[in-house]
Amino acid sequence: MKLIPLPAFTDNYIWLLHDAQQALVVDPGDAQPVLAALQQLGLQLQAILVTHHHPDHTGGVAALRQATGAKVFGPAREVMPEPLTRINGGEQLQLLGLSFDVIDVPGHTAGHIAYYCANVDDAPLLFCGDTLFSGGCGRLFEGSPAQMLASLDTLAALPDATRVCCTHEYTLSNLKFAGVVDPGNEALARYTASVQGLRQRQQPTLPSTLALERQINPFLRTRQAAVMQAAQGFDASARDAVSVFAALRQWKNEFR
Ligand code: ZN
Ligand code: FE
Repeated sequence: MKLIPLPAFTDNYIWLLHDAQQALVVDPGDAQPVLAALQQLGLQLQAILVTHHHPDHTGGVAALRQATGAKVFGPAREVMPEPLTRINGGEQLQLLGLSFDVIDVPGHTAGHIAYYCANVDDAPLLFCGDTLFSGGCGRLFEGSPAQMLASLDTLAALPDATRVCCTHEYTLSNLKFAGVVDPGNEALARYTASVQGLRQRQQPTLPSTLALERQINPFLRTRQAAVMQAAQGFDASARDAVSVFAALRQWKNEFR
């Protein structure tokens, strides 16, 4: 299996997974880069997986379906380009000879879902849209801090080696914030240096891994003393994991 991040717009990736014949894509906000890749690699598009309703994740779905006949899967509780198979979380999809678990991860949007495959070439694969980013997480447009924290906890419980395939190249700006929240974190400092190098060479920083995210991502570290203390510096009332998470998210929204 080959996993390719196709760049789209200014900072999106459309993930393409293929076995040299059949392919699937995740969150095609634009059809054009996908059609170009399918043609160049001689692939047939079997499925389109969508994580949530935002246009930068759905804009290319209708054109791709029409051009390829691919089956579309998307969240049951959101407005989606029809027709599609609506899923909620808890389902298993059989695609490209692999099994994908659908996980309900509300917070960024109310019906946001993620796709998890336990074994692809010896490492799990997670397509998490705008829920978990490397070094950060999505904004809370439709969900509460408690919902988003629960969603992130669900994802963080997946195996260490899980490859985290999110939709945006936000890593460097996320790490600037993470470095202010958690300045004593050596793993974070090392990762930041390596990400700076990748971006200077215009290379993607993704996929990340869950083992790494648990070490460096402040939004997965709301129960760590250093992160709690930093959050309290922003909002003195932050006490438990949810209020620490809420404070961190608000702080990040205002951070420049
Ligand atoms: Zn979004
Ligand atoms: Fe997005």
